[in-house]
Amino acid sequence: MSFRALVTDKAADGTLTSSVQQIDDARLPDGDVTVDIDWAGLNYKDGLCLTGGGGLVRNFPHVAGVDFAGTVCESASDRFAVGDKVVLTGWRVGETHWGGYAQRARVKSEWLVPLPKGLSTRDAMIVGTAGLTAMLAVDRLEQAGLKPTNGEVLVTGAAGGVGSIAVALLARLGYDVAALSGRPQHAEALKALGAKTIIDRTEFLAQSDKPLEAARWAAAIDNVGGRLLAKVLAQVKYDGLVATIGMAGGTDLPATVIPFILRGVTLIGIDSVMRPTEQRLAAWQRIAETFDIAAYGGLVEEIGLEQLPDAAQHILAGEVNGRIIVRPS
Ligand code: NDP
Repeated sequence: MSFRALVTDKAADGTLTSSVQQIDDARLPDGDVTVDIDWAGLNYKDGLCLTGGGGLVRNFPHVAGVDFAGTVCESASDRFAVGDKVVLTGWRVGETHWGGYAQRARVKSEWLVPLPKGLSTRDAMIVGTAGLTAMLAVDRLEQAGLKPTNGEVLVTGAAGGVGSIAVALLARLGYDVAALSGRPQHAEALKALGAKTIIDRTEFLAQSDKPLEAARWAAAIDNVGGRLLAKVLAQVKYDGLVATIGMAGGTDLPATVIPFILRGVTLIGIDSVMRPTEQRLAAWQRIAETFDIAAYGGLVEEIGLEQLPDAAQHILAGEVNGRIIVRPS
């Protein structure tokens, strides 16, 4: 048996190239469950894995794809039987283990969760790592005390995958959401997802930096990092909360301690990759109950394996609006 996969290889000069190839099943990595993949997702990290950014992939040839959903076709696990629908996100699959840009994947059963009730495999990849991480961030903010009555919640990188789903989830949960985006052309789509206010990234960054700025946000979900996150921290209200998810704008944090020691601000790190299974199951359940996938449909683009190398460049350039999902067959 063989399957189609996007195989990424490294040339002698260090550059990565990817091509669609037919792969024999015997080359699948170790694992106790084999999955026929219906859909995979495209995430910022996939852009890095396909282009060599961040040095995330060490062994070549490699099959990238940090998330996928599909149907179990072989199982040596008592947790999953042939025919079960499953979802995988994280656990460094697509980085250190072959991932979702293929018709078939073999993985450890402990990395899989059952497809949440009410979602199709396509729905699950519209959500993908992006949506799961947005939900985990909302969960953590609420565990730290956030309630809709606390005030406005800011989401940065709002037109991207994590950002747009964070906007939609927060709005459905009754929060007053402000969406910060560098792409004013997506303002209407963000309002349709439930954002009450649109903040223009260029205008936001044009104001000079101070350790404390006018206090506005009860909480924030940040996908960008860098100077933008430092500025968000300076604008958070007393006892406010900031969840840091991403680094689309940089990994540095040119901030001061002043917001923490004068306003009691809390900075919460969010990692979806190694998140324990019970928390994933709870987050997926809450997504299935909360996220209006039909209303999000206009922000979904479907591509095939052949289009992934170009799409990887677009996501790293901050040009993807919403979610790109990948059909490997
Ligand atoms: P996307 O590319 O879909 O979204 C990122 C968004 O950030 C862009 O759409 C853009 O939004 C904004 N952005 C991009 N470049 C810049 C820049 N130079 N300066 C300021 N803003 C910028 O990526 P994802 O949604 O997949 O991921 C977002 C981030 O979250 C990434 O850094 C990713 O690595 C991280 N992540 C972390 C996870 C975790 O477990 N901690 C899990 C998933 C993702 P706009 O145009 O609206 O401003």
